[in-house]
Amino acid sequence: MKQKLYKILPLVQKPARYIGGELNSIIKIPADVSLRFAFCFPDKYEIGMSHLGMEIIYFLINEREDTWCERCFAPDIDMEAQMRKEGIPLFALESKDALTEFDVIGFTLQYELSFSTVLNMLDLAGIPLLAKERKDLSNLVIAGGPCVSNPEPLADFIDVFQLGDGEELMMEFLDLYKKYKDAGKSKEEFLIACTKIEGLYVPSLYDVSYNEDGTIREIKPQKGAPAVVRKRVVKDLASVYYPDKFIVPFINIVHDRVSTEVFRGCIRGCRFCQAGFIYRPIREKPWQVIDNNARNLIDSTGYDEISLVSLSTSDYTELQPLLSSMIDWTTEKKINISLPSLRVDNFSNELIEKLKLIRKSGLTFAPEAGSQRLRDAINKNISEEEIMNTVRIAFSSGWTTVKLYFMLGLPTETKEDVEEIIALSRRIVDEFYALSNRPKGKVPTVKISASSFVPKPHTPFQWEPQEHRKSLIEKSEYLRNEARAPKSKIYVSAHDINSVFLEAVFARGDRRLSPILLEAWKRGCKFDSWFEHFNFDIYMEIFSDLGIDPEWYANRRREFAEILPWDHLDYGITKEFLIREAKKAYKSETTAHCRIKCSACGAASLNGGECGAKC
Ligand code: SF4
Repeated sequence: MKQKLYKILPLVQKPARYIGGELNSIIKIPADVSLRFAFCFPDKYEIGMSHLGMEIIYFLINEREDTWCERCFAPDIDMEAQMRKEGIPLFALESKDALTEFDVIGFTLQYELSFSTVLNMLDLAGIPLLAKERKDLSNLVIAGGPCVSNPEPLADFIDVFQLGDGEELMMEFLDLYKKYKDAGKSKEEFLIACTKIEGLYVPSLYDVSYNEDGTIREIKPQKGAPAVVRKRVVKDLASVYYPDKFIVPFINIVHDRVSTEVFRGCIRGCRFCQAGFIYRPIREKPWQVIDNNARNLIDSTGYDEISLVSLSTSDYTELQPLLSSMIDWTTEKKINISLPSLRVDNFSNELIEKLKLIRKSGLTFAPEAGSQRLRDAINKNISEEEIMNTVRIAFSSGWTTVKLYFMLGLPTETKEDVEEIIALSRRIVDEFYALSNRPKGKVPTVKISASSFVPKPHTPFQWEPQEHRKSLIEKSEYLRNEARAPKSKIYVSAHDINSVFLEAVFARGDRRLSPILLEAWKRGCKFDSWFEHFNFDIYMEIFSDLGIDPEWYANRRREFAEILPWDHLDYGITKEFLIREAKKAYKSETTAHCRIKCSACGAASLNGGECGAKC
């Protein structure tokens, strides 16, 4: 196969995506291991190689002497065509062995529009797509990642889903797999045994029945599977495994840098944000551990940039000592520090002083909504005064470009709320010119990134309809038109409305959508998150041909009493809390963040992090 591969590599773009052998990638001898694991990322190499979770799990599994974990990414269109023509099955980068040689095929599901690519990768590997057609323990297909918080549209294809943090769960899963493989047990015996491990969900062991109106009547576990599967939580982040090296690609990738994790979870509770709920409780790493991780990663890779990763890095309680230490040694080594997630309400003068030392590009903030009323409804908990104060500090310190993230179609949004996005942006431009110590001879730039709201499972807005496409398009057009005004200094980029519609369908879909995905793959869908590959019309045709109404999934308001497709998956957040939060949103009432006051979301029952003792 290697010969065939080397024959086609000169015929495709970026052949370095497919050759492996990068610095720090791990080679083992197949005869020396008893388990082979293919970590599959259902997107192109440059995207997958930028994913922090992949680096962690790759090196973690390879710590095991009995297992070799390799990587596999979706080949781009040109490479796939060559592979199919030459009869080359999908292979793992390290050994170039076909995926059929592997015991476990593990996908990470980062976004709903990667689902069709999962199917295409399995097919290219020559592995049956439907779980029930894979009869024995080999080529067991598993999946983890945020979309597993409602994995039902993939229920027909995946054998086992892993809910929550992967570090401990993956090790227990592999131990169990090895035990059952060595003992010659059947796939069914293994799947039943999986249900005894917290965090493992076997969709084939649940029967789902429906009411006449299409809603779910019952989700019934079979063969001793638990009625509710609870996510796994790593309780102690100070000692959790973290790699001391990353793989260094031969080509540029999306995030060409190393990353160190600062904390997991979020104290904030923005009502639209799934990550803010499914990763609770908040667990910080001591700053010395992060600093040490960062030094190891820089020393072992040669990268000149390190990113401090979390959902809201300025909420890290030890940011000042961490930056103080890091600025010393990174300045000496000419390393750039990147802080991707900052909030405007704790953007202090001290922080800006540190940022001045490390930042060159524009500053990015996410007010999400233009008006205070709507920011309160979504519990963003930032005031206009805080936004203006932040831009004032930033402009006074020499920045001229501010990027602002907004969402259109948020629950309770009115026309006035959308108009306020432009009004707020104009006030920011005015603020620049009003400052006597603004950067002289320069003009401000306010970049608005307008995405559309997608209601997500396990959030207070999980019952909300997504706004209809036509009205979302009108709102985007309004922003664009306003920004076109002469000398506005405002620039608008808006996301594709059709793809967020499909995202909304699959995000809250049930297992009746598995046939849609199968048909979409048959009709050529893959890389749906790529604008140039996404074919919305084919999806609409398939929904029509199979008699399924996508708007029923995307644009329908659910009753609080309705059984939701993910109700048997427990991420620690109670439905009572989510309903309380939804009702507060309708009244534009805010909820204080976890460090001010616990609002009893349920995550304390997971026994980890900051909330345990006081809740
Ligand atoms: S239990 Fe309380 S402190 Fe813990 S995450 Fe929930 S609201 Fe925050």
